[in-house]
Amino acid sequence: MTSSPINVAIIGAGLSGLSLALALHQQNIPCTLYERNNAPLNIGGAVMLSPNALKVLDALSVYSRIRTKGYNFETLEYKNGDGKLLEVYEFGSEEKYGYKALRIYRKVLIEELVEMLREKGVQIVFGKKFVKVLEESEESVSWEFADGTVGKASLLVGADGIHSTVRKYLYPDLKPTFAGGMGVTAAVPTEQLKLPPGYHIPVTILTPHGSFVIAPQQVDGSEVLIGKQKRVPKDHDRAGWDAISADKEALVKFLQQDTEHFPEFVRNAVSKIGHGKINVWPYYIVPKIERWTSDKRRIVILGDSAHAIPPSAGQGINQAFEDIYIFALLLGQVNKVDTQDALKFWQEYREQRIAKVMDLNNQIELRRMTKEEREKMPAGSMHEIELSWLYKPNFKEDVDKWVATKSKVAA
Ligand SMILES: Cc1cc2nc3c(=O)[nH]c(=O)nc-3n(C[C@H](O)[C@H](O)[C@H](O)COP(=O)(O)OP(=O)(O)OC[C@H]3O[C@@H](n4cnc5c(N)ncnc54)[C@H](O)[C@@H]3O)c2cc1C
Repeated sequence: MTSSPINVAIIGAGLSGLSLALALHQQNIPCTLYERNNAPLNIGGAVMLSPNALKVLDALSVYSRIRTKGYNFETLEYKNGDGKLLEVYEFGSEEKYGYKALRIYRKVLIEELVEMLREKGVQIVFGKKFVKVLEESEESVSWEFADGTVGKASLLVGADGIHSTVRKYLYPDLKPTFAGGMGVTAAVPTEQLKLPPGYHIPVTILTPHGSFVIAPQQVDGSEVLIGKQKRVPKDHDRAGWDAISADKEALVKFLQQDTEHFPEFVRNAVSKIGHGKINVWPYYIVPKIERWTSDKRRIVILGDSAHAIPPSAGQGINQAFEDIYIFALLLGQVNKVDTQDALKFWQEYREQRIAKVMDLNNQIELRRMTKEEREKMPAGSMHEIELSWLYKPNFKEDVDKWVATKSKVAA
């Protein structure tokens, strides 16, 4: 264990990195963020935050600043093409979990986090690309940036996303796996849909011809995200995906395809789509990896770098917020517990929850299958979805309890 003061270098100023910096600041642990771009990454329009992540953002005093900057809602309905309600899926509930879900533009969230870090004097160095670790000792780690400069800290955290360079130190050959599909989404004005009065959104409409998602965004719900998934038989390189993203007409056509089998408001939704409002999300995952920390525990990966997961339950970012919060809580206790033990507990705790999210993803995918596809699945594959374990976590209590058992052992 080290009881010498910790200072942390965070690679990547995405949502994981920025929120980690806030959480460390809360624990009085100094840190610096390094981001390769000249501004934070802004991909993919709006994101959905569920109560587990909002509890973290509340503890970091972020929630009160963003709650009114996005669309608050509780449930997503699954309906068939005839409008019959098939299932109601909870994304949040003030009564049951303490928070409604919040759909918020990634840019808005990032800007708020950057502003909070600025107010607290936490440094973000933009245009600084991490290249490789130079040396890891029992006390510190040093690394190189693309401009040839060298950094040194007692801990280096790779919050550098699914294609992480920091991860290469732990797994030089690991590449994210292509999951065989992509999401194509667009933002359109809600009024364009001419929804029947009282029709509940967000909704996923399931038909034998595929599913179609409609989810409100903007504070007043005046805009909706519309989207479909597409199976993609083979992976593409960066240039290939860029070409797919750039061909807006083909993407509009894909969104319009088969809509004759959907209600009229879906045809209205796809009738006019601005090219600048279309997003493509290729689905990659990071296969389950054994170690999120190096042997000497001076190098750590988290967020998408450690566990990019499929999008079905919308938990990618939410799980990253869980990572950073528990990580910072534990680092805040290293005067009481061994750092190695703390990081081991952190990874085990997080892995258990991610395994349950993967099961939840599977359950959601089963519900999106056609009847024929579902019938081919082994009997008993589908079970009822229960969400309180996900949405009502006790992160702080769990960490305090673990620290108390360790402190007793030490005493
Ligand atoms: C189009 C799209 C839409 C999505 N929508 C949703 C959604 O609605 N809900 C959801 O839960 N998830 C969504 N996801 C997944 C979600 O974006 C990720 O789970 C989340 O962004 C992970 O955050 P992160 O900070 O770990 O990584 P990232 O957001 O990828 O951030 C990593 C940061 O590290 C920086 N970086 C990378 N390499 C280096 C380096 N060598 N040196 C310095 N900096 C570096 C990058 O520039 C970036 O700023 C979406 C993903 C995509 C692509």
